[in-house]
Amino acid sequence: MKMITKYEVYGLWSVKKDSSCPLCKAKLELVPKEGHYNSEYWGRQRDDGMLLYCCPEGCSLKKAEELYLYGELTLPIEKVKEDEIVYIDTLTWDGLTAGASHYYGKIRQFNDSGLEEYEVSVVLDEHMAAALSEPDYTYEVGDTSERFDSEKQLFARAAEVYKKHFPKAKVLVDGSDCAVEPQLVIDGPPNYKATNNTMLQKFRSHGEYTGNGIKVAKKWRKLFRK
Ligand SMILES: [Zn+2]
Repeated sequence: MKMITKYEVYGLWSVKKDSSCPLCKAKLELVPKEGHYNSEYWGRQRDDGMLLYCCPEGCSLKKAEELYLYGELTLPIEKVKEDEIVYIDTLTWDGLTAGASHYYGKIRQFNDSGLEEYEVSVVLDEHMAAALSEPDYTYEVGDTSERFDSEKQLFARAAEVYKKHFPKAKVLVDGSDCAVEPQLVIDGPPNYKATNNTMLQKFRSHGEYTGNGIKVAKKWRKLFRK
């Protein structure tokens, strides 16, 4: 095992027996707890017994990710079924009405009972009440509001509550179930979320409908739409 200290090397948690590096094909080895660049990632161990592996030759994670995004390599992402995904539909008057910049959101899912949806709401604390209050209307601490001061706050609140409304849910997505291009995963299993959102970022940075943007969207559909 080379001790790589300057950049992040390709690695995975709890690999299957004899998993190998996608770049050099070397068998992955356990990451040392100290002295290796990836050692710090032991801090992200979620369950006892999870083990962190990486390429013993020090192949770069960045390179591996690039290959992955362009369809030449597959990293394991957690399996998520369609009925475990909840979508948030956002409504804002930001930029449409002078002075208004509030956000409303509904979390929704089409399931056996048809369309099931809930308005995202929050009990206001001091800071949120002050941010929402306007000259002609004052919000009080303890009021329930369906109005959010920013999209970030709306998403954070939705991530807190969606599993209470949809107990089976594992993933919260900003978008809809019929999208054919990457959408933001607000909450979800770590590899699923990271892979999806990296692809979204790539998709956008490619100007979306250029050659590489189309490639990313195709790969995304293969991985996330089945
Ligand atoms: Zn390697």
